[in-house]
Amino acid sequence: MSQPNNKNQQNSKVPLEERFTQTAYDALDTRHHGAIHVPIYQNSLFAFETYEAFEHAFKDLMHNHIYSRGNNPTVSYLEQKLAELEGAEEAKCFASGMGAISASILSCVGQGDHTVCVDQAYGPTKELLSLYMSRFGVETTFVDGRFIDNIREAARPNTKLIYLESPTTMYFELQDLQACAAYARSIGARTIIDGTWATPLYQNPLALGVDLVVHSITKYIGGHSDCVGGVVLGSRELVGRIGNQEYMLLGAIMTPQTAALVSKGLRTLPLRMERHESSGLAVAEHVRTLPFVRRVNHPGLPSHPQHDLAVSQMSGSSSLFSFVADAPLQTMKAWADELKYFKIGVSWGGFESLVTVNPVSEHSEDGCIVRLYVGLESPQDLIADINRAAAALSLNVVST
Ligand SMILES: *Cc1c(COP(=O)(O)O)cnc(C)c1O
Repeated sequence: MSQPNNKNQQNSKVPLEERFTQTAYDALDTRHHGAIHVPIYQNSLFAFETYEAFEHAFKDLMHNHIYSRGNNPTVSYLEQKLAELEGAEEAKCFASGMGAISASILSCVGQGDHTVCVDQAYGPTKELLSLYMSRFGVETTFVDGRFIDNIREAARPNTKLIYLESPTTMYFELQDLQACAAYARSIGARTIIDGTWATPLYQNPLALGVDLVVHSITKYIGGHSDCVGGVVLGSRELVGRIGNQEYMLLGAIMTPQTAALVSKGLRTLPLRMERHESSGLAVAEHVRTLPFVRRVNHPGLPSHPQHDLAVSQMSGSSSLFSFVADAPLQTMKAWADELKYFKIGVSWGGFESLVTVNPVSEHSEDGCIVRLYVGLESPQDLIADINRAAAALSLNVVST
């Protein structure tokens, strides 16, 4: 026997205007027939019962489900979760971290504008700003962002954006986020931060006055090396504008399948980050004691020159760090070959530990810089792996 659907009966008495002013989040059917995991809405379009409702939906493209290049219920579900985690009014998920980064940069600048960007920002971000945006009359000055005076000195009357990344992901340098955001505001410029390293669990830059936060979801948030994605978070006004313009016009959308995978990853983010933090610190402390290691760059270590700032603006640390080796590049590549648990590969944030060996830039002294990503394996096994590989190359370590 079917029950009368009271909710629908009530709804039919609510004026149309009120029924369709819900946000995409509110409008989500959170019951999903009791499905324990968000279903994948595998469809491009959403149909309407009446022409009136159809036309009404177009008044707010961001918050009504019309077509999946604008939004999709599975993706909206993830956006809501991420917004809550980051303490943002609104989130928009993209096809990749670079999709989110390029959209947010494009939303802040136009022809004739100037950007100040930290010189250790993610490589493709720097390339976008220096080589690509210059074609459209947007100039960028790159500065060592550890010192806010560098940012102040680089700013011009037409500076519209200060682009931050803290910590950076090769040298793990920080910017004072509160000071940078306050300065940007004082000159009428916006701030964007790439917060991928710390995740929304360990750093919430919006609370410190930053305008937009971007994350590569591909890393810790997804957490399983099974998808590529990005997100931009901020006020309803700024993210709404990105949704209506860069998201809709450039089309770097997140698919519902990816959103469902990321939503699964998100469930274990706090557990994974707890383990990453403790294992990352244990491995970093050990690496510090090795005779061929000159310096370890990990903001969570008290030996990091900006450790106090790290503690003041982050509530924890993740497990990607680097060390400067007192050995030639070829030796450290051979060491990487010897490692069993640390795979050789870019990216990070999944289960497997990773290693890359890089030539030093002019930024550092001689030697080479080795980046380690500490995954979810046993930290004892990882430390033993590091020692065994070093002993195999006679790098003066006693194997454990
Ligand atoms: C990986 C990464 C990006 C780019 O993310 P994609 O998902 O690969 O596009 C941006 N910033 C940082 C710090 C990253 O590590």
